[in-house]
Amino acid sequence: MPTDLTIRCRCGQVTGILEQVSPKDSNHVTCACKGCQDYTRALGREQEMLDEYGGTTVFQISPARFKITTGKEQMGCLQQTKNGAYRWYAKCCKTPLANTLPMGSMPFLAVHPLAIDTTDLDQPLEAYFGPLRVRTNHTLPRKQAKEVRATWGALLSMLFHFAPMFFRWKFRGEHRRSPLFHPKTLRPVVQPRRTVQDE
Ligand SMILES: [Zn+2]
Ligand SMILES: [Zn+2]
Repeated sequence: MPTDLTIRCRCGQVTGILEQVSPKDSNHVTCACKGCQDYTRALGREQEMLDEYGGTTVFQISPARFKITTGKEQMGCLQQTKNGAYRWYAKCCKTPLANTLPMGSMPFLAVHPLAIDTTDLDQPLEAYFGPLRVRTNHTLPRKQAKEVRATWGALLSMLFHFAPMFFRWKFRGEHRRSPLFHPKTLRPVVQPRRTVQDE
């Protein structure tokens, strides 16, 4: 059943809603690329963000479901390398909020579990976003890779799950309902910076 979840940075200044989240409309993946790993260090949150395989969990959803209600002025945007992902975070307490590609025409964003207030949830986040579909950018021994879904097969099966929703969101113009990009110009609402900003 689709459920509204609460967005809340660690200090509570940035709050919002993930509207009507459901496994059918979400994609649960982890990524262990250098950019994702560097990001955890930039925020000083390696312990909380990295799993045992050096991956970071994200839930990909339509940007139209991501609503910020308070603390918009605390939104920071980190772009660690030229053409790298935009990594949106709360400047007040360095909570990772969501990653996007560095272009507003993309109809999805990737929410970090730390951005979600789980205090009143009676089920693990998997129940709302679906099971882990693939671990990307890992270098693991073959047998282990298979066990933990770090394979090309898992990637392909994830793409079969994700592609229809990607095109559905794009077709509906949901990228123009993102709070992170201007609806007309599709430019980021906050100037991306190379380093994490303090507030
Ligand atoms: Zn905060
Ligand atoms: Zn990554």
